Amino acid sequence: MTRDIEQFAQLGIGEALTAGLLEYGIGKPSPIQAEAIPYILEGRDVLAQSQTGTGKTLAYLLPLLQRIDPEKKESQVLVIAPTQELAMQIVREGEKYGAPLGISTIGLIGGASAARQVEKLRQRPHLVVGTPGRLRELLSTRKLKLHEVRTVVLDEADQIFQLGGADDIRALLKGSLRDRQLIFLSATLGPEVRTLAEREMRDPADVGIEPEQKLAKTTQHLYFVCEERDRIDILRRVVRHYNPQRAIVFVNQTGTIAEVEAKLNHLGLAARTLYGEADKVTRATVLSQFRSGKFRLLVATDVAARGLDIPGLELVVHLDPATDSEHYVHRAGRTGRMGRKGLSVSIVTDRQEFILRKFSRELETEIEPRVLYEGAVLTLAEAEQRRSSGAARWTPKRSGSAAAGRSEAAGVPASQGSSPVTGSGAAGRAHGEAPQRSAEPGRTQPRKPAGRPPKGSKKQPNKDKGAPKWLKDKRSTQDPS
Ligand code: ADP
Ligand code: MG
Repeated sequence: MTRDIEQFAQLGIGEALTAGLLEYGIGKPSPIQAEAIPYILEGRDVLAQSQTGTGKTLAYLLPLLQRIDPEKKESQVLVIAPTQELAMQIVREGEKYGAPLGISTIGLIGGASAARQVEKLRQRPHLVVGTPGRLRELLSTRKLKLHEVRTVVLDEADQIFQLGGADDIRALLKGSLRDRQLIFLSATLGPEVRTLAEREMRDPADVGIEPEQKLAKTTQHLYFVCEERDRIDILRRVVRHYNPQRAIVFVNQTGTIAEVEAKLNHLGLAARTLYGEADKVTRATVLSQFRSGKFRLLVATDVAARGLDIPGLELVVHLDPATDSEHYVHRAGRTGRMGRKGLSVSIVTDRQEFILRKFSRELETEIEPRVLYEGAVLTLAEAEQRRSSGAARWTPKRSGSAAAGRSEAAGVPASQGSSPVTGSGAAGRAHGEAPQRSAEPGRTQPRKPAGRPPKGSKKQPNKDKGAPKWLKDKRSTQDPS
């Protein structure tokens, strides 16, 4: 269905904006942009669903910036985002492309000084971006008025819906113009959001780019099984092995997040934390330091799962399994963006393995078991091969892939091979962990140096494998090297 669009200009995006885009190396619209931009320019209501990292922000920002009249001192567009971090990311994009057109942008987020925001609101910034909580507060005290707002965008609409429910969203929409344009976007637009859309939207354009394909095709999904107490150790080895420029480590609870951070730092892995209860200044500082490379591992709750676009984020680790497949989609969606290669690694106990099998089924995506052995990452078949050719020098516990079943004792090496790292000998060893330092039995394959993903897959996919066609085309024209 995707129209073959080569240029933003063909979609109706003006010269000032296309020049701005080129400055940032953006020359060709992504499919969701090609589909959504014409409708948004027309003023149509739009429901847009496409995978994480496919350019949904510019799909709405570009046409809306184009339609803003900078001469009028009116707040014309309101964008609602579920978290402070995402709202500020959108503010930065708005400023980046809007400022050269004379368009002013404001971020209204919780935790920041409301007084300063109110002061700035008096200038009637053209583009208002905010989180639901702060928006509600400013609306109820009538500091923020929406009567001039022509367009309301819900970025990560399903998440906003989950945070506040339909009534809350309706209350937020109430003050805007009756015939306002409404735009909902997400990689996951469930039935609740669609019901709300039916009630609030007029004849919406339903724009979906492979809506059933929720995960980026360029991301590989792996998991390691281990004992509860070995989680951090497996995490350390995974980070050592894949050596990502940056990684996010997701945990489910704020209660244990400081402990994880401390353990990682103790192991020499520079880590900091991001979670909802931290104050706004700390959250902003941590994220900006992460972006600029001051530390490598961001230990975060799901507050970091939605919408964040962080360059160089090559690895997502689920230190606790995601609560459901949608959370998995958004966590994993922090990597493998815009056709780049990504890796999503879950670390689970054998009792949690069924969760990944469930996600794999629901998302129709392979989430494959792997085993760590002497710094190498092996498939179960490769591990098995080494085991059998190594005459029982060691046996990684078979983690229960559908074929393997559970075998508690199988992971115990016959004799030697106690790990100098865990010091726990064989008995308590994790599934995901083969003994260290034992001779590599009957090496059937040359040992690969530790390095970049994907490991364990025999063929090294080329950089464009799985990248969307439009992006491959773009690379071949833009990147002759
Ligand atoms: P989504 O909201 O779909 O998850 P984003 O809007 O955050 O994705 O965009 C992901 C990344 O792709 C951003 O870094 C953005 O600057 C970049 N990007 C957006 N549009 C294009 C494009 N047409 N070509 C190349 N990169 C793009
Ligand atoms: Mg987004």
